[in-house]
Amino acid sequence: MQFDIITLFPEMFSAIKEEGIIARAIKKSLISINTWQLRDFSSNKYKNVDDKPYGGGAGMVLQVKPIRDCIAEIKNSTPKTKVVYLSPQGRRLDQGLVEELIKLESLTLLCGRYEGIDERVIENDIDLEISIGDYVISGGELAAMVVIDAVSRHLPGVLGNEGSLKDSFKEDLLDYPHYTRPEVIDSQTVPEVLLSGNQAKIDEWRTKESLKKTKEKRPDLGEK
Ligand code: SAM
Repeated sequence: MQFDIITLFPEMFSAIKEEGIIARAIKKSLISINTWQLRDFSSNKYKNVDDKPYGGGAGMVLQVKPIRDCIAEIKNSTPKTKVVYLSPQGRRLDQGLVEELIKLESLTLLCGRYEGIDERVIENDIDLEISIGDYVISGGELAAMVVIDAVSRHLPGVLGNEGSLKDSFKEDLLDYPHYTRPEVIDSQTVPEVLLSGNQAKIDEWRTKESLKKTKEKRPDLGEK
């Protein structure tokens, strides 16, 4: 899957491009992440891409033309890309949306800054707005990284043996509890069944614990 990111801060993406599962997926050519510096699409010598809001008020607004030109350039080579604006006003990211996004070959992620972007971009150039939650952060970059990570984990080969099939939110359940060595620490022990070697019993215990955790922590999921 290909991700194209429109941003004023491309360096921020080294956090996922150079470390961990996403970096490995890039090395294995399972995904690609291209960053596009919005300032490269500015038409003035100062590389400005923002201006004061009509009607007054605080903050600056990202202008239409550089964003539109950047999207056009991306679409030259990737005409079918779905263009997403990361926005607190968008559809809330959840497992259902992640599973819709993994079917796509390409996603373009537009990261806002300041007060956001000119509304005419949203009206004309954006296919979908995605929010990572009901709070406001300073820019779309962290939200874009959340989308890239959540989507990439589900692509074949990205997780290797780790698998995402049993992670929380699959089948509207939370994951079961995990333990590792040592068997005893500060008088806390590991549940006996996990040491039994009886896989059927272990699976049964894990299913029960998964249901129990969901009921305790997220009863709303159970209702689904
Ligand atoms: N004035 C905007 C509003 O209240 O709706 C918020 C602008 S915010 C300071 C700057 C940028 O951060 C936004 O354009 C958006 O790209 C990103 N952003 C902020 N909160 C977000 C969220 N919850 N989900 C996704 N992106 C978010």
